[in-house]
Amino acid sequence: NNASNYVGRFAPSPSGPLHFGSLVTALGSYLQAKSNDGKWLLRIEDIDPPREVAGASDCILSCLEAHQLFWDDSVVYQSQRSELYADKIEWLHKHGFTYHCQCTRAELCQLSQGQICACVGLNLPALSHATRFNFSSPAIHFNDQLLGKITFDQTQLARQFAIRRKDGLFAYQLAVVVDDIQQGITEVARGADLLSATAYQIALYQAFDCAIPQFLHFPVVVSEPGKKLSKQNHASAVQNTAAAANLVAALQFLGLLVPRELTGGAIADILGWAIDNWDLAKLVAKTERIDNRIAQQD
Ligand code: GLU
Repeated sequence: NNASNYVGRFAPSPSGPLHFGSLVTALGSYLQAKSNDGKWLLRIEDIDPPREVAGASDCILSCLEAHQLFWDDSVVYQSQRSELYADKIEWLHKHGFTYHCQCTRAELCQLSQGQICACVGLNLPALSHATRFNFSSPAIHFNDQLLGKITFDQTQLARQFAIRRKDGLFAYQLAVVVDDIQQGITEVARGADLLSATAYQIALYQAFDCAIPQFLHFPVVVSEPGKKLSKQNHASAVQNTAAAANLVAALQFLGLLVPRELTGGAIADILGWAIDNWDLAKLVAKTERIDNRIAQQD
C-alpha cells in the first residue's frame, strides 16, 4: 500500500565504498521510509570529481542490493543535473541572495564574526569567482525528529556559504537542497555529522520559498571517541558476503536487538522484522544511555 506521502532518501557521495557508518545511515533512512509506507529514493552525490573514487558508485549500488535495501524509482545522479543547479543559482542571484566572491579561504577566515567580505559590494562577474549565499538570518531552529529542538544562532553560523565554487563545481549545500525539493523529499534522515549543514540548507529552503522537510540526524558511528568512520580515513568497506550479520549489527546500533532465531536467517526476514519493530524512541533511549555514560566518565 502506498497511501502515505512520505518520501525519504539516501544520498551517498561516491568517495569510496560504504562503510559501517554509511550502512547505518542507509538502513535508518530506509526503515523510516518503509515503516511509514513511504518511498525511499537513492541519489548518488557525484558533483565533486576530484574526490570521487573510480567504481565507487557501482560499488555502493551493489552493496545496497546485497543488503536487500532496494530503492524506489530510478537512481538520481547529481553529475547529470548541472543545468538544474545552474538555473537555481541564476534564480537566487537574480533575487539578490548571492554575490560573486574573489576571496581565498584564508581571507574569509580573517573576517570577524558576523562580518561579510567586501566582495558583496563589488558586483564581480560569475566567471572564475565563487558564488556565495549572503546569509543574514540571525537564527535558525528546527525540530529534529531524534535530537529534539536544535537552535543555531549567529555566533555558530558563517555569514556566507558557497553554492558554486570558483572552479565552477556546484557546492553540496546547493545541490542537496535543489534535489531534495525537486524529488519531493518529506524527511531528510542522515548522519549527525551533517547537523550544522542543516542550518545553511534551511536558509536555502527559505530563499526558494519552499516547504522545509523534517530532519532526522542519526548518531555517527565512531571508531574511538570523537573519531567518526569515514571514507576519507579509509574505514573498512562493508562486506557483501556478511550482509545478514552487517544488518544485525547496524540494527543494534540503531537500538533494535534482532531476536536470535532471526539472526542467522534470511535477509528479507530480518528487514521485515526491523520494519515492523522500528521505533525511534528506542534509539533515543539508547543515545541517552550512551550520553549518560560519557557524562559520568567526565
Ligand atoms: N552526500 C552526503 C554524504 O555522503 C550526504 C548528503 C545528505 O544526506 O544530505 O556525506
